[in-house]
Amino acid sequence: MTNNDTPRIIIAIDGYSSSGKSSMAKALAASLGYNYVDTGAMYRAVTLYAMRHGMISHDGQPDTGAIVAALPEITIEFRRVADGAQHTFLNGEDVENAIRHLDVSNNVSPVAAIPEVRRDLVKKQQAYGIDKGIVMDGRDIGTTVFPAAELKIFVNASAQTRAQRRVKELIEKGIPASYEEVLANVVHRDHIDETRAESPLRRADDAIDLDNSTMTIDEQNRWLIERYNDCIARLK
Ligand code: C5P
Repeated sequence: MTNNDTPRIIIAIDGYSSSGKSSMAKALAASLGYNYVDTGAMYRAVTLYAMRHGMISHDGQPDTGAIVAALPEITIEFRRVADGAQHTFLNGEDVENAIRHLDVSNNVSPVAAIPEVRRDLVKKQQAYGIDKGIVMDGRDIGTTVFPAAELKIFVNASAQTRAQRRVKELIEKGIPASYEEVLANVVHRDHIDETRAESPLRRADDAIDLDNSTMTIDEQNRWLIERYNDCIARLK
């Protein structure tokens, strides 16, 4: 699909939790030969580290001072594993499954609201984009990480649809999940993500909206490729 005349761009895909943006972003990156960065995985990895080191109280309050002090000890990398999938590594350990568990989902948004955590991870995310040719998904990619991204997509779907998808995904991975619990988590995370002071979840003014509530995965992927092609045609 790409050739030497085709500019390599930055594609920012933001949206609500479990809106399917990661799957879309991953598929797009694969078809373009771009790198893919799942920024939610980075916030999840910091949260897992904090949980393992007793930095989150039983009622979910993060110990901000301890987490900020630990940031230099936390290395997050994305590596390809044997089956070709990209996994998240925390200090050398493959934590791809561990970071998807509901206990991490329940604790991640307060950790992601800590300004120092955001600044640290945003800096790393910006470094990934230095050579362009990247698809990055998250909450603040089009607003804060890459405000000049050539293509910005904002994905939404109803909370019920998102919770149903998440339950299916978790069960497929062998992680037990109940619809009510997942729905409550999705709604709660939306609220924290939208109301935090530091780079809240917000649609960039120049983002293209996608409500994928009634779309199949194939339809979403095709829609995204069309937006990419429109964008490249504009740039040429
Ligand atoms: O995308 P995912 O649901 O895995 O993200 C987990 C959490 O990480 C979100 O609910 C949000 O609190 C946080 N996050 C964020 N900014 C990003 C990506 C994720 O605050 N760019």
